[in-house]
Amino acid sequence: MNEQLKLLIELQEIDSSILSLNERIESLPERLNASKTHLDKAIAAHNKVKTRHEVMINKKKDKDFDIDEKQEAINKLKTRMGDIKTNKEYEAYLREIEVFQKIKYDAEEEVISAMEEIERIAGDLKKDEAMVREAEVELERDGKDLEEEKKRLEQEMEVHRSKRKVLLEKIESENYSQYMKNMKRSGGLAIAPAENETCKGCNTNMPPQLYNDLKDNDKIIKCYYCGRFLYIKEKEATPK
Ligand SMILES: [Zn+2]
Repeated sequence: MNEQLKLLIELQEIDSSILSLNERIESLPERLNASKTHLDKAIAAHNKVKTRHEVMINKKKDKDFDIDEKQEAINKLKTRMGDIKTNKEYEAYLREIEVFQKIKYDAEEEVISAMEEIERIAGDLKKDEAMVREAEVELERDGKDLEEEKKRLEQEMEVHRSKRKVLLEKIESENYSQYMKNMKRSGGLAIAPAENETCKGCNTNMPPQLYNDLKDNDKIIKCYYCGRFLYIKEKEATPK
């Protein structure tokens, strides 16, 4: 095989690895999205329960206030008992006390059910707090894992970069500048195999004569359509 062609194939392998490593490094932050969403959901659920907890505590306070207020009214009425002269007045007086007592009794019932709910919500709150903490730990752990993976990929990248540097010293500048032109133009594939009289870079058929010239991989030949360097993979090349 033509020595330059061989070097260009090697260069392409290195550059493809560098490109895919780059892609992997760039996509790393996305992998935190799932654990970020998990934490957001846990916080939202916790806040909802916290709000309900506060609502119930305020409701209980209001009812406690109602109870005190009605008890005071009843006490005041009782001090006025001595002023009652007639039976009619006495009946009205009893009815008034009864009304206050009924309101007070209902408020007491509501306080009891509010207290039960507050207790139940307090249990939920504890569970939700634990879930938020768990999600925070998970996010932190994933963040660390990603940092480590990033470091590892960057080290791998460094290895490819130094190999590339060594390789470049052996590639003729004319071939290299064509190679880089192809890289930019063709989204990262500067050299392509040819199979069945077709350039595998652009999938265009080539004249049989050109394909024949490729058979021995001993010349630098470019696809007339996409400009990529062409070569024949070992199994298709003419055995020597
Ligand atoms: Zn082509």
